[in-house]
Amino acid sequence: MNFCRLLPFAFVTGFLALAPSVPAQSRTIVVDAGHGGYDRGGVPGQRISEKDKTLDVALRLRRILQADGYRVIMTRDRDVFIPLGTRTAIANSYRGASFVSIHFNCAPRVGANGIETYYYRSDSASLAASIHRNVVSGAPSENRGIRRRGFYVLRRTAIPSVLVECGFLTNPTEGRLALSGDYRQKLAEQIARGIRRQPAPYVRPLTASLRSVSLGNDFVRVPAESFSRHRRSSRSSKSARYQRSKKKKSGESSRPRKKTRKKKSED
Ligand SMILES: [Zn+2]
Repeated sequence: MNFCRLLPFAFVTGFLALAPSVPAQSRTIVVDAGHGGYDRGGVPGQRISEKDKTLDVALRLRRILQADGYRVIMTRDRDVFIPLGTRTAIANSYRGASFVSIHFNCAPRVGANGIETYYYRSDSASLAASIHRNVVSGAPSENRGIRRRGFYVLRRTAIPSVLVECGFLTNPTEGRLALSGDYRQKLAEQIARGIRRQPAPYVRPLTASLRSVSLGNDFVRVPAESFSRHRRSSRSSKSARYQRSKKKKSGESSRPRKKTRKKKSED
């Protein structure tokens, strides 16, 4: 996702106080394939077009959810540009629905990698956690955590809304994965699993304000039972597993690899 387009962080105090509670399981899902038309997504000159990959995952997600009995609304189902305001208007016309926006990440540094999930409304936190947990557990990518950010499609939606970044297309490993239809199917299945398994949403008390969030408390770890375990395993076994399988394939010797430090955020 090209964050520059979505960066208008408005300071909307009191917004959380208005957040309504919603049923634990929305049976209508608005699926939003990021970008489209002349907006390819990503950074200029990016080899893998983000808009195609988001659409493909979104269409696969639609099929899976429909087979599960969900009603699915697509903000786009073909390669067309849809303004962000139209996307949120579509979402807001389905009260009681949930909104899931699908993106892939990009960064100038090719080493940047991992999956991250965003939400803004407090009643979206449980959906974000559930989707994130499932996508990360089904992918060989690093876990970059869940963040609370006021991206347009999250801030302007009146229903629980989540934006998932399914890996970096600018990273050689994750870019290669994204080119695989099997892998995109797996991503769609894991997102669907996260939607299905969403626990009852937690709505913040009326006293909550966005001030604490905007002052740097926006990086939220999934409070789930398996998450800390998962983070540990993602550091040790995920990358190790990947390196092992890479060596196996290439017949590379066990020469120690230079460690690269992961930056907290590439956005
Ligand atoms: Zn994007």
